[in-house]
Amino acid sequence: MTRFPIDELKAIQTPFYFYDLKLLDQTLNEIKRTARDPRFKVHYAIKANANPGVLRRIQAAGLGVDCVSGGEIKAALEAGFKNDRIVFAGVGKSDWEIEVALEKEIGCFNVESEPELRIINEMAATMGKKAKIAIRVNPNIDAHTHEYITTGLAENKFGVNLEQLNDIITLANSLECIQLEGLHFHIGSQITETEPFMMLCQTINRLQDEYEALGIKFSSINVGGGLGIDYANPDKHPIPDFENYFKTFHNHLRLREGQVLHFELGRSVVAQCGSLITKVLYVKEGITKRFAIVDAGMTDLIRPALYNAHHKIENISNPNGELHHYDIVGPICESSDCFGKEELLPSISRGDLLALRSAGAYGEIMASQYNCRTLPSSVFSEK
Ligand SMILES: *Cc1c(COP(=O)(O)O)cnc(C)c1O
Repeated sequence: MTRFPIDELKAIQTPFYFYDLKLLDQTLNEIKRTARDPRFKVHYAIKANANPGVLRRIQAAGLGVDCVSGGEIKAALEAGFKNDRIVFAGVGKSDWEIEVALEKEIGCFNVESEPELRIINEMAATMGKKAKIAIRVNPNIDAHTHEYITTGLAENKFGVNLEQLNDIITLANSLECIQLEGLHFHIGSQITETEPFMMLCQTINRLQDEYEALGIKFSSINVGGGLGIDYANPDKHPIPDFENYFKTFHNHLRLREGQVLHFELGRSVVAQCGSLITKVLYVKEGITKRFAIVDAGMTDLIRPALYNAHHKIENISNPNGELHHYDIVGPICESSDCFGKEELLPSISRGDLLALRSAGAYGEIMASQYNCRTLPSSVFSEK
């Protein structure tokens, strides 16, 4: 359970991200324990959080890394990740990004379209390289999450549809500077049920059977990320159920001889170790409502405004006070700049520190300078 050293935190300029590195280490240990099948290779989706202090821990734990931009490839290399443990995904890879990836000889490109495949081949030829690639397949699985974060359905920009897969595999195998390694899937995010992952296993089994019949084999399968976390109860479930997650793939996915299975976990690795700490500026009494106006806004944590997400809010200055209802709102000139409505919280006063929990993933990394604001800083705890 994350402990907030309130006296130390009071001295720091708010808002800032507080990272519980002990919890991060425990999470990484649990991943190592539950993904112990030697065929399993776990990568971290760096887009969830690229704070150097967080990245170094993840790198030290032996995970590979999944990048979606040239900037992320650079951040991963700076944090010490080995080039061959880097995977590069994304629907819109710029030429300079492909060039960086080829130059650094990364482990794999996850290719999302035919024109991208042709460009990677051309650029690899010019540079005298051979690009290892996997084809991102759109498996048409409904992951039952928010529409902005469901990526595996037929009608979206990601991946290659099942009907077009045959043609792109044939093309990949015919191109001189392309080495087709495998198939890549990613069905969505914040998935807390087992069923979508089981359906993914069944789809992959069926596809592998079909391609095997055609004499086509893959050396790797990549099942993406998407494992969800418990936003409502961060202290009850500080570490996601990795045991059940990896067991699902162990039990339901039929890997072929010599095949490796890649995972790309983002949120589940880092979400629970981070909290956004903000100071209460004013308590404003309305007619029917009471507002706590805080110094953090959607510029520091955009998930509530963008996805209608809810982060558990705690008054860490006065944890045992009398309970009242508050709307917790930020200073940004947008009505969506609201962290919670009718939150039942211990009595709030000006100067109190509030913690917005489970903010380690898609928090700090999505911060912006809208309204000419300063980006939030970060502090680390080892206790
Ligand atoms: C975002 C993303 C991930 C990580 O998703 P999480 O839900 O954070 O685990 C993995 N793979 C790809 C291709 C992604 O776009």
